[in-house]
Amino acid sequence: MGRQTEPQSLSSGYFAFAINRFPVDFFGTFWYKVPEEFLGINHSIYTMSLLVVGSIAYDTIETPMMRRENVLGGSAPFFAYAAGFFSPVRMVGVVGADWLPEYTEMLRKQGIDTAGIEIMPDGKTFRWSGKYHNDMNDRDTLETQLNVLGTFQPKLPEDFRRSQFVFLGNGAPSTGLAALDQIQGADLIVADTMNLWINTTRTDLDALLKRIDGLIINDSEAKMLTDEINTVTAARKVLTMGPKFVIVKKGEHGAMFVSEYETYTVPAFPMENVVDPTGAGDSFAGGLMGYIASQQGNLDGETIKNALVYGTIVASFGIEGFSFDRYKEINRTNIEERREAFREMTAF
Ligand code: AMP
Repeated sequence: MGRQTEPQSLSSGYFAFAINRFPVDFFGTFWYKVPEEFLGINHSIYTMSLLVVGSIAYDTIETPMMRRENVLGGSAPFFAYAAGFFSPVRMVGVVGADWLPEYTEMLRKQGIDTAGIEIMPDGKTFRWSGKYHNDMNDRDTLETQLNVLGTFQPKLPEDFRRSQFVFLGNGAPSTGLAALDQIQGADLIVADTMNLWINTTRTDLDALLKRIDGLIINDSEAKMLTDEINTVTAARKVLTMGPKFVIVKKGEHGAMFVSEYETYTVPAFPMENVVDPTGAGDSFAGGLMGYIASQQGNLDGETIKNALVYGTIVASFGIEGFSFDRYKEINRTNIEERREAFREMTAF
């Protein structure tokens, strides 16, 4: 799968300087190449590393066709597994005594460093249950049992604290803030959020928005966050709240990227066989960030556009099966083949 197993040094010596009015890349960052001999630092501490902090769940899913109980879910596993097709991933989350070690093994096999999974021996793993309607874009949350996630205080292993790329998966914004307090010198911090946190923890969410580079959010939630009825207007308003770019997810209608300099959409891969859309958003983010992490820290506009395409393609595989069933059957070659088919169908 072409995964890196050793931490890699940042031999290219790229340093980012935020120059707000200089449209050099997708969020106005000027990338300046500094000769290594002038940096005077040990590059081995700067690795092309990708960190995710998020929920780990047992999901119970009902679709018009089927019902499955207590399958692996949560924002962190979906993100990490999808990103693992492109780069090594460090995962932080919490589980209870009911956690099955076979899931740790499954994640490890995908190149995920599981040292950040904390097991609470006196608690139960977070549980979420959802029901999809005939229109699989539409789902209701039937039950959320926070369990150990309710009191989660992320503790990042020492080597995770210097991660270059950081994704704060769906979870309480206070968890994201606590993680950011432990992270030094990240080049790109992206977060996801949802209606629950917009409605119940707005002050923390506003503080988090000021500390991230990018927000990935559903269409309806972008509108809820900004009190707007138009998606583009909502995305632009999010830019005034802190993030330098926003990616709005629109389910089977694809995703829209908005920054001060660029607005574009990427369609979804047309799918006939949608079995379980759970985790599509997190997998999209995982494919996107995993691809960026695999590009040696290159954050130009073209890389980001390609990253949205890879996120789209990886997520399209995930929804062909329940939980991680389909992911376990595919590899990078399958992803590249579908990406090529996608390129042909979107080249006008
Ligand atoms: P997605 O389909 O990408 O929105 O992600 C679904 C995943 O998010 C499921 O596997 C759930 O376990 C997880 N999830 C649902 N609600 C929450 C929540 N309030 N906080 C954290 N994770 C959640």
